[in-house]
Amino acid sequence: MSKNILILPGDGIGPEIVTEAVKVLNTVNELFDLNLTLTEGLVGGSAYDVHGTPLPEETMEKARAADAILLGAVGGPKWDALPDRELRPEKGLLGLRSGLELFGNLRPAILYPQLAEASSLKPEVVSGLDILIVRELTGGIYFGKPRGIRTLENGEREGYNTYVYNESEIKRIARVAFESAMKRNKKLCSVDKANVLEVTVLWREVVNEVAKEYPEVEVSHMYVDNAAMQLVRAPKQFDVMVTGNMFGDILSDAAAMLTGSIGMLPSASLDKDNKGMYEPCHGSAPDIAGQGIANPLATILSAAMMLRYSLGETEAADAIEQAVSKVLDKGLRTGDIWSDGMQQVNTADMGEAVVAALREV
Ligand code: NAD
Repeated sequence: MSKNILILPGDGIGPEIVTEAVKVLNTVNELFDLNLTLTEGLVGGSAYDVHGTPLPEETMEKARAADAILLGAVGGPKWDALPDRELRPEKGLLGLRSGLELFGNLRPAILYPQLAEASSLKPEVVSGLDILIVRELTGGIYFGKPRGIRTLENGEREGYNTYVYNESEIKRIARVAFESAMKRNKKLCSVDKANVLEVTVLWREVVNEVAKEYPEVEVSHMYVDNAAMQLVRAPKQFDVMVTGNMFGDILSDAAAMLTGSIGMLPSASLDKDNKGMYEPCHGSAPDIAGQGIANPLATILSAAMMLRYSLGETEAADAIEQAVSKVLDKGLRTGDIWSDGMQQVNTADMGEAVVAALREV
């Protein structure tokens, strides 16, 4: 049966990097007989320009019908001045995440040994780093109600948000994390602030309950402040980390920067059936858009994650990851990961090098 992939290039460097990921997908489609059908849609500023909204119903329908979605990036200065916040490009992304109930955000932080020099930490601390951060994406303080800014009786303004998680929300993200740990080194660290916040006291209790279903996984708990410290002190102690929306937002960016190169990091956002949206961790990079110099590898690696997590095509996913590693071995680098002695290439050269490496296998 054909598998239907929705391609959403988005804005800025989005179309440039997605073009290369599509070349790679078409190549594995042919080499591994995957029966993929790719369709395109508009999201973000490019959708606003055509339809007056960052998430047209037509795109949402295609997204619901797809088996998986590959997205470039959205946003840019052209749309920053839009007075109605609901029409900003980023709302297209949030609408897709909440509309499709993509609650499980998987953000690997992998440091290819070839790029160890790119990290701001010492090579021996980070070389070979391979962490997976599982972040809850549709709940917690970012969505909790009541929220707002109100004026008190004394005339002073007060801002307030609500940090809330119910048992089933914690259970479903914990299961994603345990399942991921089972596919890796079977170590899971749950991050909370159970010494201060009741919501995370419950978080810890529920994670421990779910742990009983996964006796092979070694579980630990860590307060978020300590986790932030440990991530920069000795990051290789972690295998899988699971946490709520806000802590995950912050920790996953810190973990990403351990690798020194945002242009290398893929991500996945999954629903309860492992249908997902896959995208690079970086944004639309308006400062380099249109120049053909962006690094397409995060998007190409996102396509590999899509094959692994939503389509169950492990062999094709492995082949893409190995092809990326080979290209790095050959010394090919886009500007963001370039260092002395390496060969600087543009976006299309990098995409084509990955395709060539795939065909060499
Ligand atoms: P950014 O990630 O777009 O760029 C940060 C820096 O990293 C820039 O110097 C950029 O040139 C560089 N960079 C990013 N990706 C690169 C790549 N693939 N190759 C080489 N260099 C790369 O973050 P920003 O500048 O804060 O945001 C720019 C726009 O992107 C904003 O409109 C923001 O809202 C949007 N954004 C979108 C997403 C998304 O679509 N998921 C995520 C973050 C930011």
